[in-house]
Amino acid sequence: QNSRLELNFGREILKMLPSLAGAAARRLGRTPVIMEVCGTHTMAIARSGLKSVLAGCIELRSGPGCPVCVTDQRDIDRIVALANLPGIAIATFGDMLRVPGTGSSLELERARGACVEIFYSPLEAVAYAARNPGKEVVFLGVGFETTAPAIALSIAAAAGQKLPNYTVLSLHKLVPPVMETLLSDPELTVDGFILPGHVSTITGRKAFDFISLKYGRPAVVTGFEEIDILQSVCLLLKQISEGSARTVNGYKRLVREEGNKKAKEILAEYFKPADAFWRGFGLVPQSGLAIKEKYSRFDASAKFALDTPETQPPKGCACGDILKGKLTAPDCPLFARACTPSSPAGPCMVSSEGACAAYYHYEWSE
Ligand code: SF4
Repeated sequence: QNSRLELNFGREILKMLPSLAGAAARRLGRTPVIMEVCGTHTMAIARSGLKSVLAGCIELRSGPGCPVCVTDQRDIDRIVALANLPGIAIATFGDMLRVPGTGSSLELERARGACVEIFYSPLEAVAYAARNPGKEVVFLGVGFETTAPAIALSIAAAAGQKLPNYTVLSLHKLVPPVMETLLSDPELTVDGFILPGHVSTITGRKAFDFISLKYGRPAVVTGFEEIDILQSVCLLLKQISEGSARTVNGYKRLVREEGNKKAKEILAEYFKPADAFWRGFGLVPQSGLAIKEKYSRFDASAKFALDTPETQPPKGCACGDILKGKLTAPDCPLFARACTPSSPAGPCMVSSEGACAAYYHYEWSE
């Protein structure tokens, strides 16, 4: 019965879409531009075929919501350098393996003999460290508010077992601060935002209120079903057509106003906000998570010398502008030529949530 209700609801939304888009376009004098901030939405939209349903009604842009993609080139180089230190075992989620740094990647270094282990959970890495006392296990903390609590719990587990050989390289990023940076850009032409549902389960809806209150743009916290995304687009178009701006919770079945109190407490115990470098954005104040001093023995950046020179992204790579919503994948001169999933030049083609990978797999044909 539920799926029938959803089907009818979906049909109703699809009927409303063209007139809402027309009204929004009349108000703006052009096609409305909507950003899906989160890489999971980018993939969901591409995989489901929603892009072609929405084409003609809105222009979609991807945003800075793929954690692998926004990891700065210099941090990739630091990781590669770390993998080559004697006795180090890099523990990581699989997505990081093929991200190209300036001269190498973890995948290449593994082929040359570096120890790089892939885990689905940071707790598996803690167990690996316990089984391998002769190795210094460094877990790569790459992710947003959603991933960080599980990595904090891995520090708790390592502390509980008094493990001397488990550390975390915290490259975590926080979504609200980068949205501030994005919205402060006078060249930004985005009219409304599809906000990440899973990040919002931790932060709460209120954490994104500034998008409408301070910057006058509508935003909708959105789930990951097609129906969630369609509903969210309609809610945005309605606001654009009325000239109103609110940050709406379109994912009430999981997202609360204040977020997840328990997860926030865990984060506050182990991490503190810190300035962080984002690919395409540079230094974004207070947009990362550093490990607190009292857990510094689990902090890889405190334990190992990791300095690497400043780097430039590959010549022609447009990942930075794609993450800022200024370009789309086919605008990059390297797309499908010097950059493909089997031979990626930038992270947006490697990550399972990358905008270029989504376009390549689901929209592009030779
Ligand atoms: Fe970067 Fe490759 Fe995408 Fe170009 S096609 S923006 S090089 S990932």
